Amino acid sequence: MKLLEYEAKEYFKKYGIPTPEGRLATTAEEAAAAIRELGRPVVIKVQLPVGGRGKAGGVKFADTPEEAEVAAAQLLGMKIKGLTVEKLYVEEKIRIVSEVYLGVTVDRSNRCYVILASREGGMDIEEVAARTPERIVRHRVDPVMGLRSYHCNLIAKRLGYSNKKMRQFASFVSRLYELAVGMDAELTEINPIAEIEDGFMAADARLNVDNNALYRHGELEEKLLHSYQGELTEREMEARAMDLSYVELDGNIGVIGNGAGLTMATLDTVMLHGGKAANFLDLGGGATPERIGRAVKFVLGDPRTKALFVNVLGGITRCDDTAEGIVAAKRELGVSKPIVVRMMGTNEAEGKAILKEAGIETLDTMEEAADMTVRLAGGN
Ligand code: GDP
Ligand code: MN
Repeated sequence: MKLLEYEAKEYFKKYGIPTPEGRLATTAEEAAAAIRELGRPVVIKVQLPVGGRGKAGGVKFADTPEEAEVAAAQLLGMKIKGLTVEKLYVEEKIRIVSEVYLGVTVDRSNRCYVILASREGGMDIEEVAARTPERIVRHRVDPVMGLRSYHCNLIAKRLGYSNKKMRQFASFVSRLYELAVGMDAELTEINPIAEIEDGFMAADARLNVDNNALYRHGELEEKLLHSYQGELTEREMEARAMDLSYVELDGNIGVIGNGAGLTMATLDTVMLHGGKAANFLDLGGGATPERIGRAVKFVLGDPRTKALFVNVLGGITRCDDTAEGIVAAKRELGVSKPIVVRMMGTNEAEGKAILKEAGIETLDTMEEAADMTVRLAGGN
């Protein structure tokens, strides 16, 4: 889940990271009121879950309420990367001496967090990373040892800071890392950290929280369910509310599997046979007939699903339960959309018998079943 800048900054404040004073505005009048309240020149920034707002014209400066009103009117309703601007963050403008980059993200291959920092922060950081990677300092955090203050000092020193600046930057590193761990961040970054006369300040803020950890952050889970622009589609939100793990794609085949691995393999197999999935749903482990029925109904309910492929490996999830769920869903919906099932494992024979009686195809291999589904969906 990608938080907007102003939301991320609320967490930054909680973790003691210095950020400029700011106000949210959704109209030009509110933007003017915000600068009056702040009583100083401001920067006005569009609030969208995408980067590169500066380059897209989504960052403007204003010295007076009149200027703020004009700038806000220009920004509101603007389209950036397909998203419409509805919110602005009006923030005291700070005098930046130089722009520094600091990020914490997951290093998957090394199974740890990695801290990235560069003196060449700002809007061209991607280019710095591509052309002069040596200008980026990397520190992998040993998950057992954690991040110690001497690590933070070392990162600051490697960036060329000494004395007070070194300690100030080290404290930024330490706090951002604490935020990453505390908020289960997949990524948190500050680009730029504004180097100001007597220290540093987070001019921008990004915080992407791992969706699988949202249960630990109730207020964010709520937010995700209540329409989060650019994050989930309407049906994905509906599925989440029904406790189904469902993702929409742009093809015409519905895919249901149990377990992430099998579900991904099923998607690949559909692709290999020339098909394109409209969506996929992972039943998870130990699904009951009721849950399976709910899943089948939900996937068939997508008007783009022309045919459904259910691929289940019976373990704790039993094949007869799966079959019962599918048959019940088909009966309730009364649909004639083709359903192809491949199942094996626990109670396979019972499951297949139930499906056969209901006139639903079962095939023995994933390949045959994928091929059949693609044909029933009307080819590729
Ligand atoms: P992004 O383009 O989406 O990353 O948006 P940022 O919030 O990082 O803003 C883009 C650029 O605007 C920054 O790199 C700064 O150069 C500039 N900027 C943002 N806030 C301020 C500020 O308070 N003062 C000054 N002088 N420049 C700012
Ligand atoms: Mn930025």
